[in-house]
Amino acid sequence: MYGNLKEGRGILIGRMQPLHNGHIQVIKDALKEVDELIIGIGSAQISHTVENPFTAGERTLMIKKALSEHCIKGDKYYIIPIPDIMNNFLWVSHVEMLTPHFNKVFSGNPLVQRLFTEAGYELNEHTTFNRNILSGTKIRNLIIHDGEWENSVSKSTSDIIKEIDGVERLKHIFLKD
Ligand code: NAP
Repeated sequence: MYGNLKEGRGILIGRMQPLHNGHIQVIKDALKEVDELIIGIGSAQISHTVENPFTAGERTLMIKKALSEHCIKGDKYYIIPIPDIMNNFLWVSHVEMLTPHFNKVFSGNPLVQRLFTEAGYELNEHTTFNRNILSGTKIRNLIIHDGEWENSVSKSTSDIIKEIDGVERLKHIFLKD
């Protein structure tokens, strides 16, 4: 299942709305502990809301470009969109169906931790970033209110957000809400 991987394969699932420097740090730390990492894009079916402004495709692009910017090679990770389902009990099986086998779980989300632990997976404890400084919610608010958000994300991510008219998208959705 893990071929010649010494430390095995991990999984990290997050909405990454948008991908920011905290996520990058968690990915870098995780890659010190496993040979390969599955990066699951959570709530993949949702976009164009204030909480989830970017599509799974746009988030895939952000991850791919930012990891390349940080010199993380493409053969170290898989990016897999994971849509939500209406049943928490079955969610781990749903993730397993969509991804290659994995033996370690990286998550700062208590529900995700609970579901994977109950399914018998090993959890990695040290996978949180400082939410007071880096948070998707804060970054989305800064984008909406013309604050300084670009320092919290990779250059490639801010380029993508601007290219797809993401700033206008967020402001527009916010006003409609
Ligand atoms: P989330 O709901 O996107 O994030 C929850 C909070 O945790 C956010 O404030 C997030 O910050 C923060 N966070 C995420 N990773 C962190 C880390 N390593 N250290 C510190 N804070 C962190 O949850 P998520 O854990 O990122 O993603 C879980 C995904 O699984 C979601 O898409 C969820 O819908 C999905 N899920 C689905 C089911 C189901 O379909 N039944 C069940 C369980 C989970 P940022 O906003 O800055 O990222």
